[in-house]
Amino acid sequence: MSKALSPLPRAFARLLVSWQREHGRHDLPWQRTRDPYRVWLSEVMLQQTQVSTVLGYYDRFLSRFPDVAALAAAPADDVMGLWSGLGYYSRARHLHRCAQVVVSEHQGRFPDQAAQLQTLPGIGRSTAAAIASLCHDERIAILDGNVKRVLSRLLAFEQDLAKPAAEKALWALAQALLPARASDMPAYTQGVMDLGATVCTRSQPRCASCPVRAHCQAHQRGETERFPIKTRTLRRSSQTWWWLLAVNPQGEVLLHKRPSSGIWADLHCLPLFEEEAAVMAVLPGRVSQQATHLPVMMHALTHRDLHLHTLRVPVGSRQADALARTVSGRWCSPDVWASLGLPAPVRQLLTQTLARPARGGGAA
Ligand code: SF4
Repeated sequence: MSKALSPLPRAFARLLVSWQREHGRHDLPWQRTRDPYRVWLSEVMLQQTQVSTVLGYYDRFLSRFPDVAALAAAPADDVMGLWSGLGYYSRARHLHRCAQVVVSEHQGRFPDQAAQLQTLPGIGRSTAAAIASLCHDERIAILDGNVKRVLSRLLAFEQDLAKPAAEKALWALAQALLPARASDMPAYTQGVMDLGATVCTRSQPRCASCPVRAHCQAHQRGETERFPIKTRTLRRSSQTWWWLLAVNPQGEVLLHKRPSSGIWADLHCLPLFEEEAAVMAVLPGRVSQQATHLPVMMHALTHRDLHLHTLRVPVGSRQADALARTVSGRWCSPDVWASLGLPAPVRQLLTQTLARPARGGGAA
C-alpha cells in the first residue's frame, strides 16, 4: 500500500463493501446484470446525467437496441433520436461508433480487460475500469468526479486536481485502496459510486451516515467542503446567433443537419446565422417582408451562453424548394422532427411555437 495511505487502515475497502451490500443501491436496472453491453450503456448515459433521467432512456434504448449488434446496425439518426434529451450528443456518436468497432473488430463481444476496453471509442479510463470491475471482477480503480470527491475528502488530498500530476497521484491512491479479493470488486466499485452519489455529496455530505467517517481526514478536520481542491475556473463567453424558423403551408419546418464536428454536431437544427442580415439574405422574393421576431432565448452550454434570436417566416409552396436548396435543408413534418435528434433549444422552440408534443428534451 502507498505510503500516503499509511494512516488509513485497510479497513476502508472492507467497510465500503459491507456497506454497499447492506445499504447501497441494488434496484437500478443496470445493477441486475453483468452483461458488459448493458453496464457500458448505463455508464455512458450516467456521465453528466442524473440517475432519475437515465432510467427511462435506458429502458427505451434497450428495447430498441437489445444488444451491441442491433446498436451497431442502426442508422445514426435513430440513435440520435433516441438520445434526445440526455444531452452531450458526442456520447451518442461515440456509443454508436463503439458498437460498430466491437462488432467489426471484436466479433461482437466487449473485451474483458480494462486496458483493451479503453481503446474503444468513447470509453475512458474510469468507464473501462467500471465495466471490467463490475462485469469481470478486475482489480482496477474507477475515478470519476464523484469518486474524486470521496477520495479527496477521505485522504484530505491537498493537491490541486486541475494539475495532471495531482490526478495521476490520486489514481495511484485509488488503486492502492482496492480490496484484496477480486470477488469483492463489483460491490466495492458500486459502493464507491453509491457513496459519492448518495452520502458524500458535493454540498452538505451526510457524514453521520457515512461508513468510513472514522477514517475520513476531511471529516475529522471539519473541512469536508474544502475538498476536492481544483483551482482552474472556466471562462465563460457569450455569443449571439440567429435562427430561421421557416414554416410551409403544410406546417412543415425547414431543418438542416449540422456538420459532424463543432456545436450540436450531426443534429438536425434550424438554419443558423451569425447576424440578422444573413438570414434575410437567404429569403427568396418578398418572404422577408413577412418575417416576425420571436422572443430571444438564452441557452447555457458548458463554456458559453447563447443568445438565440429567431425569425419566423411563412414560406409559400413556390418558394419552399428554393429555400431548402439554399440552406441545404429539408422540410420536416411534426411527426418527423419529433423523432429526430434536435438540440434542446430547437426542440423547445418548435414545441412551443408549433404547439406539438415533444419527445424527450433535446441535447445540451
Ligand atoms: Fe464524505 Fe463525510 Fe464520508 Fe468523509 S465522512 S467520506 S466527507 S461523507
